Amino acid sequence: MRIDLHTHSTASDGTDTPAELVRNAAAAGLDVVALTDHDTTRGHAEAIAALRGLPEPAGLSLVTGAELSCRLDGVGLHMLAYLFDPDEPELSRERELVRDDRVPRAKTMIGKLRELGVDVTWEQVARIAGDGSVGRPHIAEALVELGVVPSVSDAFTPQWLADGGRAYAEKHELDPFDAIRLVKAAGGVTVFAHPAAAKRGRTVPESVIAELAAAGLDGIEADHMDHAPETRARLRGLAADLGLLATGSSDYHGSRKTCVLGEFTTDPEVYGEITRRATGAFPVPGAGGSPAA
Ligand code: AMP
Ligand code: ZN
Ligand code: FE
Ligand code: FE
Repeated sequence: MRIDLHTHSTASDGTDTPAELVRNAAAAGLDVVALTDHDTTRGHAEAIAALRGLPEPAGLSLVTGAELSCRLDGVGLHMLAYLFDPDEPELSRERELVRDDRVPRAKTMIGKLRELGVDVTWEQVARIAGDGSVGRPHIAEALVELGVVPSVSDAFTPQWLADGGRAYAEKHELDPFDAIRLVKAAGGVTVFAHPAAAKRGRTVPESVIAELAAAGLDGIEADHMDHAPETRARLRGLAADLGLLATGSSDYHGSRKTCVLGEFTTDPEVYGEITRRATGAFPVPGAGGSPAA
């Protein structure tokens, strides 16, 4: 089984629509794909409809989820949340607060860029973001269009949009302990995304991962493109020590990043455990497929 538990669509900063993502996941031979857009569940309905429309026999199942933006002691971190009830009021409200604050925050970053002499506008960024949760990759793409940087990743430097960079602005984010509690209360499962992705900025120490584990965190994403092989091995060891699940996933963003669907995958036993723990939603089986766990 090939299980990819972390992908983005145009509902946030990916470039595939949710329907395209589902079709591409089936074409890539995945058995399970999770849709985990930043701070939103808006892509779920379209992804579910596309899954039901796949030609038989499609063995692909869809795991609904989100990637929640969190911050602890000034360090940004991402919490993957799976199979929670999307209508549970408290988590919905917090998700919307985070997502909605992305708009004024993007405008602040655009203002900083304009002060730095870059002729970027909100209209340009809004066109690129469409109706997705607006984020730095959209602003980065505007900088590529303007010829300021050669690629999206080149905009993630201290000169431009990296954490603490000249044009960076913070957004409202959740305390990760609150995120774990809220997701659990909505019947979902939490996995700390790319916990040691140092190239994205500061990361939290292992002692914090232990505290999150004690607070009910279910797992950590060990296998991820932003972790070197030795880091992946170390995180697997840490997960074993702390009684956490260890997952692997692509963090696919369509053409906005180089990774491909299924580049890293999750062990079927770990996936089975995630589905057993979740009570807020269930994997959606594709036409001709059966629930994978
Ligand atoms: P935001 O949520 O708006 O702060 O943007 C964070 C997103 O930017 C992440 O989810 C990644 O998709 C992307 N990102 C962060 N750091 C980098 C980097 N160094 N290179 C490319 N993309 C990055
Ligand atoms: Zn992203
Ligand atoms: Fe992330
Ligand atoms: Fe992601």
